[in-house]
Order: sequence, then structure tokens, then C-alpha cells
Amino acid sequence: MIVIKTRTELEKMRRSGMLVHEILKALGEMAKEGVSTWDLEVAAVKMMQDSGAKPAFKGYYVPAAGERFKYVLCTSVNEEIVHGMPNPKRILKSGDIVSIDTGVSLDGYFGDSAITVGIGELSSQAKKLLQVTRESLELAIDKVREGNRLFDICGTVEEHVVSNGFSIVREYVGHGIGTQLHEEPQVPNYVDKRNENPRLREGMVLAIEPMVNAGRPEAKVLRDKWTAVAKDGSYSAHFEHCVAVTKNGPWVLTRP
Ligand code: MG
Ligand code: MG
Repeated sequence: MIVIKTRTELEKMRRSGMLVHEILKALGEMAKEGVSTWDLEVAAVKMMQDSGAKPAFKGYYVPAAGERFKYVLCTSVNEEIVHGMPNPKRILKSGDIVSIDTGVSLDGYFGDSAITVGIGELSSQAKKLLQVTRESLELAIDKVREGNRLFDICGTVEEHVVSNGFSIVREYVGHGIGTQLHEEPQVPNYVDKRNENPRLREGMVLAIEPMVNAGRPEAKVLRDKWTAVAKDGSYSAHFEHCVAVTKNGPWVLTRP
């Protein structure tokens, strides 16, 4: 069942969404050559503590991993797609792309967002990958309107990515969000005809998160049980926003 949120609930989600925005903005500016992904984690922990928010990822149990996640951020560098773990030994260098994904809850309501940041000089392929992935999210956000259907969102991401020669990761998907980090419906970045195609209604909130590989679409999980990587070692990018369906069109809760 897709939970419909009241205006009051959306305002609460807005608060957690804006905190996630502030954290990602600070981390995006901090992510430079010589900074480790652990430095980003430490800064995020402090910002969450200072604002009285609970981290959404730390302690989150994932059955496939068989354990709880230990960090407030997922930091996924280059061929890592999602669920990379902050590490003091992972020092960012010129040419890297790093996906920084985080979530918080404030007053029982979640926010979840991700950016991918380029470090120093990027290859033209990496630059294009970031641009196309970001564009695919923006085009999908514009479909978050009453009367549209879920597949309008999924198909928009897919079409933009595939027409630019990149590929959609199929193993990981976006999701509904509210008092739970992950709610129904699943929001794949492609049209999955096995799923239902609900009509979008006022008060639904979707976390849309294109995960795009420069090469082949296949993913695998490393022996650390968490880090998902592109099987062919190609670059992978990831952007995410939480978007509410309103009478006035899409309301992106995770940016100003
Ligand atoms: Mg998410
Ligand atoms: Mg996320």
C-alpha cells in the first residue's frame, strides 16, 4: 500500500529533506583531492548530531548483507554504484567520481538524497555520465504530477539514459518514503512490467534515484557484503531526490 501524506506530514518531511540538502551541500564542497571518504562521514555525523537528527542508514538492517549498516553515509567511488562504505584509506584523487548518499529522520519522518561529485579533472566520459544522470533525474521529477503514472517516471529515466549510450542498473531502485526510509512503491529506473503502475496521487512521496553505468548494466556485490559495483568496472553515477505529488506539481523536498 502506498501511504498518502497530509500537508502537515509533508512539512515534516520537508524539514528532514532540507537537513539532508544542507549536509550534502557541505560534503559536496568538502569533497576534494586528498580528502578521504571517512572525513566526509565524520563531518556528516557532526551535522546530524548538531541538528538532533537520527541517521537513517546507520543501524539499518539489510537481509542480503545479514547485518546492520555501520555508517551514516554511503560513499561510492568510480565503479562503485551504491552502498560503498566510508574508509580513512579511501582518499579521493583527481579523476574520481564519488556518490554521497545519506538520509536522516527528524520527528519520525525521513529524508533521503544523493549527489555524485567529480574530483579534480574528469574524463569526458565521466563528465557526460554525471550530466546525463543528473538530467535523467530532473526529467523524471517533472513527471511527478497528479494523473501521471509510476511508469512515466521510470520510463523517462530509462529513455534519457539509454538514448545517451549509458545503461540503467536494474538491481537497485528508488522507493516511497515517509515514516519509513523505504516504503512502497518501488521506483525502478526502467519500466518493469512485472510491477504495478499506480496513478500518482496528491500526498505520495517518491525517492527517485537513477543509478547509471557508463558501460554494461550488470552489478555485483563485493565480499564486504555491501558495496555494489559495476561488474565491468565502468564508472557509475547516482543522484537522488525525494519528491512529493502536490496540486501545484512536483515538490522536491530535498532542495530549496
Ligand atoms: Mg533512497
Ligand atoms: Mg539515498
